[in-house]
Amino acid sequence: MPRDCMYPREYEVVKARVIGGLASVMSASLLCVACMAQTNDESSLEAKLDTRRNAMVDNFTHPKHLGKSDPLKRYRISDTRVIDALRAVKRHLYIPEPYRTRVDPYGDHPCPIGFDQTISQPFIVAYMTERMQIEPGEKVLEIGTGSGYQAAILAELGADVYSIEIIPQLAEHAKRVLSNQGYGKVHVLTGDGYKGWPEHSPFDAIIVTCAPENVPEALVEQLKDNGRMIVPVGSRSQRLVILRKEAGKLRQEDDIMVRFVPMVHGDSKKE
Ligand code: SAH
Repeated sequence: MPRDCMYPREYEVVKARVIGGLASVMSASLLCVACMAQTNDESSLEAKLDTRRNAMVDNFTHPKHLGKSDPLKRYRISDTRVIDALRAVKRHLYIPEPYRTRVDPYGDHPCPIGFDQTISQPFIVAYMTERMQIEPGEKVLEIGTGSGYQAAILAELGADVYSIEIIPQLAEHAKRVLSNQGYGKVHVLTGDGYKGWPEHSPFDAIIVTCAPENVPEALVEQLKDNGRMIVPVGSRSQRLVILRKEAGKLRQEDDIMVRFVPMVHGDSKKE
């Protein structure tokens, strides 16, 4: 459930001031003053959002703040590289404009991004990323680009990121935000993640952020030897599964219970 928060209110205040200011200012000099006021408002909003983002990340480093299911209760994010990436990526900008004022972008919950899809709960993004132990320069495939937020976290860790999204409008949105935020090297493909991205395989790691009923075979094939994959498996009841390919053999670890949107089947493919 979206909570009351500072962000929507502040955002509306800034918007009202900008619109009101522009309507009333007639001369060039007054316009200039109004622009400076707008800049001040925007930078103070950004500063407040930075504070909220840091508070969110701080919570992830203390086990007592984590979720209710058993393994989560005992877990805390401890990899400083992941923590730094979470501090660096501005989650609020990945939530498409029409949804930004309705939710707290730094509350630990999923947020709507349109087309019945959601940007994942930030703690789960942190958890999945940490479990994959991404090293700089590694080639990582994400299935379910959505808002582009998880892709940005991977890019911030120095990975060479390939991400597939089945809804063209979301893929376009993600490309735009990623590029605006300096992650223009992330490769985004509009297509069906069940097929993976064979042209760029094999991958050191694969992160699936929508839930298939079974682990997709093509993705296992596109994993490097010594590669690892994390994927929520199931329909109503889902569990994160971590797969490691070792000397051609797969080792499977069943992890925590989760709730992701389903991984749907489709055949559109357009880069
Ligand atoms: N990782 C995203 C959140 C993903 S939500 C983020 O950081 O915002 C799951 C996404 O998976 C949705 O955008 C949905 O459209 C997409 N999806 C569902 N089935 C898919 C498939 N077969 N191939 C690629 N993307 C798929």
